[in-house]
Amino acid sequence: MKKIPFHYSILIGMVAGAGFGLLFPEQVHWIKPLGVIFIKLLKMLVVPLIFVSIIHGIDSVGSPQNLSRLGIKTLAYYIGTNILAVTVSMFLVNLVRPGDGMTVFGEKLTSYDASFNVLDWVPDNIFHAFVNVSTIQIIFIAILFGLAIVAMRDQVKTIRAGLEEANKLLLKVTTKVIGLAPFGVFALIADMIGSLDFEALSGVFKFAIVILGGLLIHGLITLPILLKIFSGRPILEFAKQMQPALLAAFSTSSSSATLPITMECMTEEAKMTDDISGFVLPIGATVNMDGTAMYEAVACMFIAQALGVDLSFTQQLVVFFMASVAAMGAASIPSAGLVTLTMVLSAVGLPLEGIGFLFALDRPFDMSRTAVNVWGDMVGCAVIEGKKK
Ligand code: ASP
Repeated sequence: MKKIPFHYSILIGMVAGAGFGLLFPEQVHWIKPLGVIFIKLLKMLVVPLIFVSIIHGIDSVGSPQNLSRLGIKTLAYYIGTNILAVTVSMFLVNLVRPGDGMTVFGEKLTSYDASFNVLDWVPDNIFHAFVNVSTIQIIFIAILFGLAIVAMRDQVKTIRAGLEEANKLLLKVTTKVIGLAPFGVFALIADMIGSLDFEALSGVFKFAIVILGGLLIHGLITLPILLKIFSGRPILEFAKQMQPALLAAFSTSSSSATLPITMECMTEEAKMTDDISGFVLPIGATVNMDGTAMYEAVACMFIAQALGVDLSFTQQLVVFFMASVAAMGAASIPSAGLVTLTMVLSAVGLPLEGIGFLFALDRPFDMSRTAVNVWGDMVGCAVIEGKKK
C-alpha cells in the first residue's frame, strides 16, 4: 500500500476533526486528551529547541560580520512586515467600521497581567528562565553564549561538537512527536468546533470580515510577494512544504508549540540551512507576530467604534505603534494577544472591559492569526536567506 504523504494526513485529521466536532459535540471530551498530549509533547521540546538551535545557529553563522548582517536583516524583516500588516488592518477597520452600532460590552475585565517591562528580558537566573519558559530570556542567554562560542572557537571544540549532536538529537525526537500530528490535530479541531458558540460569532460578522480579510491579504498577497521577490522560491511549492506547520499553528493556536514543526518543515522540506533557520525561527516565533499585531489594531479600533469614541489621526498612530509593540510582547501561546491588547487600549485611554467579550470569541481568531504569525516566520526565513546562488 502506498503511504499517504504526511501533509495530507494532517489535513485529513483536521477535516475529520471538524466533522466529528460538528456531528458529535457531546462526545468531544473523549478525544480531547489526545490534543492535550500532543500540545504537551510539543511544548516539552520548546525550551531545549530554542536554546540549542540559537547557539548552534550563531556558531554556524560564524564570523561577527556575518552575524551582524543576519541580525540587521532579521530585524528589518520583522519591522517591515509588521508595518505592512498593521497598515492594511487600519485601512480595513476604518473602511468597514465593524464596531459602529454594537452594544455588547457588558462583561467586566477581571485581572489580566499585561505588564511589559523591558528589564524582564534580562535574566538573573538561568534556571528560572528555563523553568518559567521565559522565551525572551532564553533567547537572551542563548545569544550571549552563542557569541562567546564564536569568539572562543577552538577553545570550546568539545562543546561545539556537543551542540551539533544535541541539535541532531532534538530534531530526531521532534520528528517522532510530529508523527502524532494527524491525531493531535484531529482532537484539537474536534474540540474547537464542538465548543464553538456559532450564534455569538454571527453577531460580530463585520469584525470577523475585517480580521480575516486583513489576515488573508497579508498571508496570501503581501508575504508571498516578499517571498517571491527576495527568495525566488516558487510560492505554491513553498506553501506546500510549510503546510504541516501552518495546520499545526492553526490547530494549536500557539506559535511556540508549533516551533518544533516549523523548524522541521524548514530544514527537512525547504532544505534551509541550520544557521539561518536555527537563528531566525525561534526568535521569530517569540517576537514576530504580524497576525497578532493586525488583530490588536483592529480590536482596539472596534472597541472604540462600539463605544462611540472617535479616535483622531494622532491617536490612531498611537494605536498603530502600540499594536506592533504589544504583538512583540505577546507570548506565543493561545490568546496571549488579548492580554497585551490592554496596552493598546490603555495607550489611547479606552476602557479594558471590551476584552472580556473578545475573550469569549477568541478561539477562531486566535487560530487564524497564529497561522499568519507562523507563516510570517517561515517566509521570513526564506527572505532572509535570500536568493540561492
Ligand atoms: N496565539 C498567538 C501565537 O501564539 C498569539 C496571540 O495572538 O494570541 O502566535
